[in-house]
Amino acid sequence: MSLAEKLTRNNIRDLVPYASARRSMSGGRIWLNANESPYANEYQLDCSVLNRYPDFQPASLIQAYADYAQVEKEQVLASRGADEAIELLIRTFCEDDDQILICPPTYGMYAISAQTCNIGVKKVPLNSDFTLDLPAIEAAKDKVKVVFICSPNNPTGSLVAPQQLKAVLDIFKGQAIVAVDEAYIEYAIETSVASWLNEYDNLAVMRTMSKAFGLAGIRCGYTLANADIIQAMSKVIPPYPISWPVAQIAVQALSANEPDSGLVRMQQQLQQTMVQKQRIVEALEKLEYVYEQVPSASNFIMFRTEKKKALFETLVEAGILIRDYSSQIMLDNSLRISVGSEAETDALLSVLNEFKG
Ligand SMILES: *Cc1c(COP(=O)(O)O)cnc(C)c1O
Repeated sequence: MSLAEKLTRNNIRDLVPYASARRSMSGGRIWLNANESPYANEYQLDCSVLNRYPDFQPASLIQAYADYAQVEKEQVLASRGADEAIELLIRTFCEDDDQILICPPTYGMYAISAQTCNIGVKKVPLNSDFTLDLPAIEAAKDKVKVVFICSPNNPTGSLVAPQQLKAVLDIFKGQAIVAVDEAYIEYAIETSVASWLNEYDNLAVMRTMSKAFGLAGIRCGYTLANADIIQAMSKVIPPYPISWPVAQIAVQALSANEPDSGLVRMQQQLQQTMVQKQRIVEALEKLEYVYEQVPSASNFIMFRTEKKKALFETLVEAGILIRDYSSQIMLDNSLRISVGSEAETDALLSVLNEFKG
């Protein structure tokens, strides 16, 4: 045993790190495996401030998030991606025997962040139609301090109904934070629960610039919650979490009002993504080897095929990377495709249509 192994905390020694799309698959020309935007945009940088530490929470960025999400500035915390927000919630609110509750199949980082903090994970699987199993959640509530619900959910693309979210907030009233992960909310913006913040003091909403805004490369996300939750998380987040270049880029991406503003561009690119998504949905419907696809409220599509392994490998040979979820709970034979550009969709569909299995 190496010294490092001997000294490593037990919960870390046993930990299998998150197999991100970028970590587990390299190569390929066409990346349809991480739900990124296919569009890279240009930004202006002001380097005259780079000799100074950034603001703890850059004021222009917080204002831009507050305006965009229609909440108060005091209800916003900027972090390095939504992933940091997930970990901050656990580190701020969970200790000793406290647990988090998740509803798989869902985003993998909730459980991994909990494990790195040595916090237990209660799993209440979704129903077979990917709705929440509310009686099972209620029955599992003992010791739970943070509940993570993802809507639209990754990797299924399904939405959680507002009545179900309200039921979960009520179940955990006075006991636990209910963190609603809205990483894909731009694709279903009318379903956001950000407007519920004043009604539920145990609600936190996680958002990111990594998906619809096309900024996965700058690591920028934010949490919306009441000021008390934001204050508590602010004690735990490092002193300079957001670098100046990141803040400048995110502010430009969130700019409104001009015809060429960041928000207008995001909307245009989102519309293009929806057009390509529809092409993929229709193609999958016609393929005999695909026996189910989940209606998606997002920029990715999950579907089932008995030929998953051969199809996945055929796509890899064509330089196209998608994601295999077939080993996960309730996701037998499931593959997930992120929607790319028109040219990427052309390439994808030609392989899908040719494939015989
Ligand atoms: C991509 C993703 C995140 C991570 O967002 P970052 O801001 O890039 O850290 C969080 N939650 C879900 C559900 C995601 O799919």
